[in-house]
Amino acid sequence: AADLPHLAETDPTAKALGYVEDASKTTNPKHKAGDTCSNCQFYGGGASYGPCQLFPGKAVSAKGWCVSHTPKKA
Ligand code: SF4
Repeated sequence: AADLPHLAETDPTAKALGYVEDASKTTNPKHKAGDTCSNCQFYGGGASYGPCQLFPGKAVSAKGWCVSHTPKKA
C-alpha cells in the first residue's frame, strides 16, 4: 500500500484532539505516561507511522498521542 501522508499537528482535527507527533512532549493533562498511538486501539500498525481510524487518509506517528487514546485490548 502507498504510504499515507503524515498527519500534521496543525491539521484542524489534529489540533482539536490535541494530537502530537511525540507523546513524550505533550503537556496535555489527559495524557497518561506510556500512552502512545502504538498502544491505542485505533492505530493500524506500523513501526514509525501508521493509519488511525480517527484520521482517515493520514498516517499518525507510532510515538504520537491524542486525547482519544484508548488502550488496545489484549
Ligand atoms: Fe493516536 Fe489513538 Fe489518537 Fe489515533 S486515536 S491519533 S492512534 S492516540
